[in-house]
Order: sequence, then C-alpha cells, then structure tokens
Amino acid sequence: MSHAAVDLNNLPYADGDFYRFELLLSEAERERLQEIRDFLAKEVRPIAVDCWNRGEFPLELIPKLAEANLMSPVRRQGHSNVFAGIVHAEFTRADSSIATFMGVHDGLFTGSIEALASEEQKAAWLPDIYAMRKIGAFGLTEPLGGSDVAGGTRTTAVRDGDNWIINGAKRWIGNATFSDWVVIFARDVADNQVKAFMVDTALPGYTATKIENKTALRTVQNADITLENVVVPHAFKLAGGNSFRDTNKVLKVTRLSVAWQAVGQQMAAFDAARRYAVERQQFGRPIASFQLVQDQLVKMLGNIVACTGMMVRLAQLEDQGLAKDEQSALAKAFTTARMRETVALGRGIFGGNGIVTDYEMAKIFADAEAIYSYEGTYEINTLVTGRAITGISAIV
Ligand SMILES: Cc1cc2nc3c(=O)[nH]c(=O)nc-3n(C[C@H](O)[C@H](O)[C@H](O)COP(=O)(O)OP(=O)(O)OC[C@H]3O[C@@H](n4cnc5c(N)ncnc54)[C@H](O)[C@@H]3O)c2cc1C
Repeated sequence: MSHAAVDLNNLPYADGDFYRFELLLSEAERERLQEIRDFLAKEVRPIAVDCWNRGEFPLELIPKLAEANLMSPVRRQGHSNVFAGIVHAEFTRADSSIATFMGVHDGLFTGSIEALASEEQKAAWLPDIYAMRKIGAFGLTEPLGGSDVAGGTRTTAVRDGDNWIINGAKRWIGNATFSDWVVIFARDVADNQVKAFMVDTALPGYTATKIENKTALRTVQNADITLENVVVPHAFKLAGGNSFRDTNKVLKVTRLSVAWQAVGQQMAAFDAARRYAVERQQFGRPIASFQLVQDQLVKMLGNIVACTGMMVRLAQLEDQGLAKDEQSALAKAFTTARMRETVALGRGIFGGNGIVTDYEMAKIFADAEAIYSYEGTYEINTLVTGRAITGISAIV
C-alpha cells in the first residue's frame, strides 16, 4: 500500500467545516468571512507564536485591525449572531490571544458602553472606540472576588458632589497595561449596588501592573489594577450600569462569544493535528495511517461539530431575542469541556513536539486553560445551568 504525501488543500474537508455550517451564511457573509480569513492569514498568524513566546502584545496590529472594520459586528454592522460567532471562532483559530484582545475591547468594553451608556455618552465615546483610536478594558474581577464577584465586589464608589471617588483593586484585567479607558465596576456605598464607571487610565491614583509568568494567552496583557482615591466625574458613570443585573446584560453576550472561542480553539487544534498526522512518519508511514491516530482525529472532529451545532442554534436564538442566560452558561461549560479533551488529543498526536511552541500545538493546548476558566468557570456555568433545570441554586 502506498502512502504518498497527501495534498491537504485538495481534501474535501480541508477547511474543517465537516457539516457545512457556513452554508447558513449569505453569499455576502461568506465573502466577508473569506476577507477576514485572508486578513488573519496575512497579519495575525505569522506573528502569533513569536508574540506568545515573548509575552508581548503587537501594538502595531491595532491600526490594521481598525482598518479591517471588525468592531461591533452585530449592534453596529447589523450582522447576525451566527456570522459574528463564526468570525470570532475564526479569530481564535488564527490566534486565541488576539481573539481575546478583541473579545475584551469589542465584546466586554464596547459591549458595556453599548448596553449601559446613555445616548449622549455613546455619541461622545463610541466613534473613537469603534475606530480603535481608544482601546478599552473591563475591570470586574478582584484579587479576592472571582466567581463570587457579583456579591463580593469590594471596590467602592462614593458620590462626592459632581464626582465619584473610587478605591479598590482589580485582577486579571485584559488590555489594561496599555488601554486608554477601563470600565470599572464598584460598589456604591450609599445603596450597596455595583455600578459601572468609565475610568481614564491617565487619572491620578490609577495604576496597572502587568501579570507576569502566565502559561496561557501570553500575548494578552493582563493587569493587576489599584485605584486610590481616583476621582471620576459623574458624567463618566455609565447611566444604565446601576446593579449587577445590568452587568449581567454584558456578560450574557460575552459568555456566548467565549463559547465560540472554544469552537475556534478546537478548530486550531484539529488543523494542526491533522496536518502533522499526515506529514509525520513513523514505522515508515504517516502516523495518520494508524487506526488509533485516526480515532483521535475523529474524536476531535466530532467535538467540533457538536460544539458548532450547539453554538449556531444558540446564536439563532440570540438573533431572535430568545436566548437565556442559562443557555449561554451551558454552552460555555459544554464547549470548554469538549475543548479541553480536543486540545489534549491534539497535543498527544504531536508526541514530544507537542510541548514546544515551534509546532504551535503547545500554545493551543496551553491557551485552552485560560478559556476554560475565564468568563465564568466550568463549575459556575454548570451550576447556573443546574439552577435553571432544578429550580435549586447550588452555587452557595
Ligand atoms: C487570562 C484571563 C483573562 C481574564 N480577563 C479578565 C478581564 O479582562 N476582566 C475581568 O474582570 N476578569 C478577567 N478574568 C478573570 C476571570 O473572569 C476569573 O478568573 C474567573 O471568573 C474565575 O475567578 P477566579 O480566577 O478568582 O477563581 P475562583 O473564583 O477563586 O475559583 C477557583 C475554583 O473554585 C471553583 N468555585 C468557586 N466557587 C464555586 C462554587 N460555588 N461551586 C463550585 N466551585 C466553585 C471555581 O470553579 C474554580 O475551579 C480573566 C482571567 C484570566 C485567567
């Protein structure tokens, strides 16, 4: 039997879309998706591993991302959630760190402004944000408040005439080492409600320190923030950010997009593992010719198809205005659990080469751990779903 080199580009499933989900998109959307893929292939993939190894964010990429007109695909550009989700998965497939940068600036930060700011505030801020002349961050998690941050926000806001005085600390805040603005969630001592503030990072009393030595999403710049008597004018309090219920309006949508990241991360693992399996020779033949390796690749593919199917349906519900918090929670829990299995299978297919980033798989494997934990851990999203199906909360 011959094992001549396989021409990957001529395989019927070379793009990894085994059940042709892309046929759900219009022709114009498919053309736009191809443009974005070309952009990612040209501008993101060539630099992704090097930036990750150095733990540095490529600031020179920001004007290129701006020019590619990627911001706010649903609210501003009128695309469907299905299209936006598939695009976010493609970003992650190219590089999960750059996808996370966009997820923070566009999803969490811009999403907060779009959902919680007054019309006047939006008119003042959004043009610079959409053009990516101003970059934002989202400051919710705290050193002592992670999964329980809804009730456990310790950062305080005190009204003082036309200003608010903010004191406290935030942890893990993506983009915050270089962002111009950060939306800070703080507890109003007067009514004990968590409120949202647009904080200029140049204000006195604001400090952001990079979190070093990460083993995942190393290109993303996460920061520890301290706020010491930071004076924020009342005009910079988000008009509609008055309780944690308001914060949840943002998180519901971004949780959905993190589940799409889990899809993209699995696609990245599958792309790399399939390519390696047909190229790597052992025992005089490609390792893809061994039945156990094919079984591993097919398990990976099955996970991708199952997760994509779930996400497409959830995005359709979101498009119809019917999606519920618990549906986003199940999607985030399920897709990230499958992702962990998929990237582990992929890493195994690489043997020893699966633990050096030169072959990319080690980076894909490591980054999956951050996606698994942020935007609500597996356990918290499971318990949100469990509460919905039993009527009993097991969270506390
Ligand atoms: C790379 C990265 C980027 C991030 N970016 C941002 C950002 O930009 N902005 C931001 O605000 N936050 C950000 N986060 C924070 C992220 O949302 C939190 O890490 C996450 O919510 C979990 O909180 P924690 O890390 O404090 O874990 P903890 O809450 O301390 O949880 C530790 C463990 O205990 C489990 N646990 C906790 N409570 C329960 C319970 N009731 N039942 C069962 N198990 C439980 C958890 O599931 C987990 O396994 C980021 C995190 C990472 C890793």
